[in-house]
Amino acid sequence: MKRTGGFRLYPNNGQIQAIAGMLEECRWLYNWALDCRKLAWEHMKEHVNYYDQANLLPYLKEKVRPNLTGVQSQVLQDVLRRVDKAFKAFFRRAKSGEKPGYPRFRGKDRYDSITYPQNPAFRIEKTGLRCDKLVLSKIGAVRCRVHRDIPDDAVTKTCTISRSGDRWFASITYDVPDADVKEIISENVVGLDLGLNHLLAFSDGVFLDAPKWFRASEKKLGIEQRRLSRKKRRSKNRSRQRLRVSAVHRKIHAQRKDFMHKTSRSLVDSFDGVVMEDLRIKNMVRNHHLSKSIHDAGWNMFAGFVAYKAEEAGKHAVFVNPSGTSIECCVCGTPVSKTLSVRTHRCPSCGLVLDRDTNAAVNILGRGLDALGLLTAGTAGRACLNDLVTGAMIQEAPSSPVLAGREG
Ligand SMILES: [Zn+2]
Repeated sequence: MKRTGGFRLYPNNGQIQAIAGMLEECRWLYNWALDCRKLAWEHMKEHVNYYDQANLLPYLKEKVRPNLTGVQSQVLQDVLRRVDKAFKAFFRRAKSGEKPGYPRFRGKDRYDSITYPQNPAFRIEKTGLRCDKLVLSKIGAVRCRVHRDIPDDAVTKTCTISRSGDRWFASITYDVPDADVKEIISENVVGLDLGLNHLLAFSDGVFLDAPKWFRASEKKLGIEQRRLSRKKRRSKNRSRQRLRVSAVHRKIHAQRKDFMHKTSRSLVDSFDGVVMEDLRIKNMVRNHHLSKSIHDAGWNMFAGFVAYKAEEAGKHAVFVNPSGTSIECCVCGTPVSKTLSVRTHRCPSCGLVLDRDTNAAVNILGRGLDALGLLTAGTAGRACLNDLVTGAMIQEAPSSPVLAGREG
């Protein structure tokens, strides 16, 4: 199973200079490789491939650009591979009749990352302290924060060092052994609905609301953005304020991601299977209210977290078509249409009264169990589903104080 982890790097000044120097050499090589292919094609109608260029590397180092020796050979080979990829994409686009866009030369400071394509040109040293070390060939040990642990039995594959403004990052891909798939029982599967009343509704009747800081951070962002709009153009104050706005953005992003990691972790720990709606099937973003909650939850990212954590644990994440799940009655299957403002599902034929999001979550669970082969079709399936969710249901209770209070 392949994974990628991103880590912040804290290189010292000497290391920054060393990496910047490497980026510059790589940029030179990139432009050289591009030029070489261009000339060969324009003058001789010849295609130059990756191997032709890789075989020239020793010559380049010795006769043309001695500084290239300061960069690890595999990193240089990766630069040539990038050029190769850019050309292949160019020809593919040209062939399929799209507007191709010739691969571009990279201007100064327009080359922002280098890739170590394999171990052992880099390795992680866990220090057990706040900062770990990433040991890079020709650069040395750079302080880094391995905030999401790479498991000890993982085999690291590639490492990309990149610059973003004045920050440095490492993106490391690694393989982890496949987990044994655990036996799954239907009682331990949960359905999730991206709710209207709540952020998430679970098929067992539990709700998850957006933490308060979602709104608080958003408010703060609004304030800082308004301040920015009032600053004079091209002034020092304005550029300072722009930094402040991007800091708030970064913080919100980090908060959300943290929340999603924690929520997905506890879901995967508590259940054998998680069933979620596949939002690609039905585009719900048309509705403003819905789009806001989808945006808030960063649903796709969250769903991705659940999926990979489940896979790692040998558990199941199932995506189902959500269409109709908010309308169907989860007990008898009768369609009960309701507008967005109707918060409660009331079934005229079986008398079920249930939060609309819970009803949808149970329907999603049903589809997931079906996909997992844990649900028999038809009425027997309904009955089996009912057994699973009785805890969530308030049947024949139109005057239930809980629901009455919620509706208000
Ligand atoms: Zn019903």
